[in-house]
Amino acid sequence: MTSTIGSTVLGYPRIGPNRELKRALENYWKSRIGEPELREVARTLRTDAWRSLRDAGLDSVPGNTSSYYDQVLDAAVTFGAVPPRFAELGLSPLDTYFAMARGVESAPPLEMTKWFDTNYHYIVPEIGPETAFRLSDQTVVDQYHEAAELGVKTRPVVVGPLTFLLLSKPRDGAPASFRPLDKVDELVSAYAELLGELHRAGVEWVQLDEPAFAADRSQADLDALRTAYRRLGELAQRPKILVASYFGDLGDALGVLASSPVEALGVDLVAGQRTVDELPSVSGLRDKTLVAGLVDGRNIWRTDLDGALAKAATLLGLAGEVAVSTSCSLLHVPYDVEAETDIDPQVKSWLAFAAQKVDEVVVLDRALHQGRDSVSEQLEDGRRRIADRANAERVRNDRVQARLTALKPEHAQRGDYAKRLAAQRKSLRLPPLPTTTIGSFPQTTDVRKARAALRSGSIDQATYKQRMRDEIERVIRLQEDLGLDVLVHGEPERNDMVQYFSEHLDGFVSTHNGWVQSYGSRCVRPPILFGDVSRPEPITVDWAKYAQRLTEKPVKGMLTGPVTILAWSFVRDDQPLGDTARQVALAIRDEVKDLENAGIRVIQVDEPALRELLPLRSAAHQDYLDWAVESFRLATSGIAESTQIHTHLCYSEFGDVINAIVALDADVTSIEAARSRMEVLDDLNAVGFARGVGPGVYDIHSPRVPEAGEVTDLLKAALAAVPAERLWVNPDCGLKTRGYAEVETALKNVISATEAVRPAS
Ligand code: GLN
Ligand code: ZN
Repeated sequence: MTSTIGSTVLGYPRIGPNRELKRALENYWKSRIGEPELREVARTLRTDAWRSLRDAGLDSVPGNTSSYYDQVLDAAVTFGAVPPRFAELGLSPLDTYFAMARGVESAPPLEMTKWFDTNYHYIVPEIGPETAFRLSDQTVVDQYHEAAELGVKTRPVVVGPLTFLLLSKPRDGAPASFRPLDKVDELVSAYAELLGELHRAGVEWVQLDEPAFAADRSQADLDALRTAYRRLGELAQRPKILVASYFGDLGDALGVLASSPVEALGVDLVAGQRTVDELPSVSGLRDKTLVAGLVDGRNIWRTDLDGALAKAATLLGLAGEVAVSTSCSLLHVPYDVEAETDIDPQVKSWLAFAAQKVDEVVVLDRALHQGRDSVSEQLEDGRRRIADRANAERVRNDRVQARLTALKPEHAQRGDYAKRLAAQRKSLRLPPLPTTTIGSFPQTTDVRKARAALRSGSIDQATYKQRMRDEIERVIRLQEDLGLDVLVHGEPERNDMVQYFSEHLDGFVSTHNGWVQSYGSRCVRPPILFGDVSRPEPITVDWAKYAQRLTEKPVKGMLTGPVTILAWSFVRDDQPLGDTARQVALAIRDEVKDLENAGIRVIQVDEPALRELLPLRSAAHQDYLDWAVESFRLATSGIAESTQIHTHLCYSEFGDVINAIVALDADVTSIEAARSRMEVLDDLNAVGFARGVGPGVYDIHSPRVPEAGEVTDLLKAALAAVPAERLWVNPDCGLKTRGYAEVETALKNVISATEAVRPAS
């Protein structure tokens, strides 16, 4: 029996082409609409998706593509992993689900964390020895029926059991030796139950996603993978199984899965650079379908169809069937480039969003199985676009290339730290334990309205500028009244810390509707970095100068670092990421220099995404960290010793990047620490970090205002780890998402707490 899949994609966006689900969710949470209306929006979106995927010509349409929040949370609910604090609330199933994602007064939410190295965030299941896995929810089956009634036979997609457990965390209070993976046999039994139900429902194929094996895994993890898929494969009554991997090479898991009794294996041939070479020596594929992820599911460039076909040709004959697919779910790209009416037409012709990627998959599959002649026009059209992009003048900037070539190690080197410190002390004259903030102040409705009015043309540039200046003045006065030592202008002119810079740099375009789900109802609209990056003119200097004129105290200039700009953009795929980072670094370096020339004595370059871009495999860490650190240093060198460089990092779990933080050589590093109670300071001490450090003493992720006493305790803990000369006092992160009332009280408390512990100068 042949077990064909044919052309497919591993998943599809679900937030809605116009973010319909986002609006419905937020309305439901505000009790503006009821559950039936919310369900109707989600139903319409998924039925539209199924139909359009079928009509586009895919042989196999992914199912279970709908989610009210997140696919890992969906799996937790499907298999009964609902912690008691939520189950006990007595809410409806849907509200229990939302309580797990968002928390309620009496039950804090499950944690949320990044989905591998993407900008998508999943909900982290909490598992204990007592978690009783069983099939507890029929949504997967129901949605299969729903699609079947519309005439679309879908392939339900579910997070695989190993990835589910490897991404879970032990619940608080679980025995120290307990690992969620200890429960794999029980969870696999629950998956077996689901497969039985799907079989009875008439499902032909099911897709279980195991991206966890694109990261480093232990022998125990691999053994568990082998056992789990042997068990599932040996079930008598089940659909055919596609195990999908993505985000990189499978390493040893490739052989394990190839020899397991499942019918199909999905491999990422875009991020997985080695897989194509490894496949010929893997045994067990002959009777399987190889689902070849040839179309990049994470970036927005048109596929080089000839290149992809050449890759696919080497696979023919290795497996029973070779089916064309995307490298991963299309969740990570926007819906449809045709919705973009304002992007420069030439750049637009190089782009493929989800809808265009589906077409590419169909074309590739036809070319592979029915011959190139069957799609010669489409192949020719693709060729023209690829050639146009490769030869486009606007992609290259000779001046930028020349600067890059001329770079020497000393361009990424500042002077001796002791001398810098002395020069900065003299210039800044700060008290011990200087107080500051991370940059943004609350973005008021007025500020947002002014930005919208400028965009729609109802106010002119001069009026807008005046409104922003008024806001800056207010923020400066407030900080002076509170008694902060190093002030900020508050960033009112920035919609987003990356988008703002991308809009002022050459080499980027922005989209109008290119939204991608970040978590729950939240979406981001990443800029597209298509060419050599340069800065046509100063970006922040006027605002910073204006703010500095209002006060005697030092005002910090505020910039976003190269790594973070890359991490939150769609980046070009035609040169090494490190080269792109160095280009962005040079643009930021120019801005740093101009700020210094304008009399700004403290400049902060934020790198909250330094940890985010870390490759999944440890073998690739050093190469990444080398260019990441170098690009930060390029951006922040070439200035006087007396100019103080700050950086800000958003997370407290550094692990793998802690040495890189030392290597950044910033004069002052502020870092999230309020929730982890200053532990990060010990970690920094352990690697010999000896610069200024501002561990966050106010958790801005919560609307709670900390009491002065709590802050004093945190500061005392900090002083136990770091000498007073090196300690700075600041919140965990920017204040943009908070309200003025809470921020004022919180900062007042932070300052009185500082005064309570501040040694005499
Ligand atoms: N300077 C930025 C702000 O204050 C930093 C934001 C961030 O760390 N994500 O908003
Ligand atoms: Zn932050």
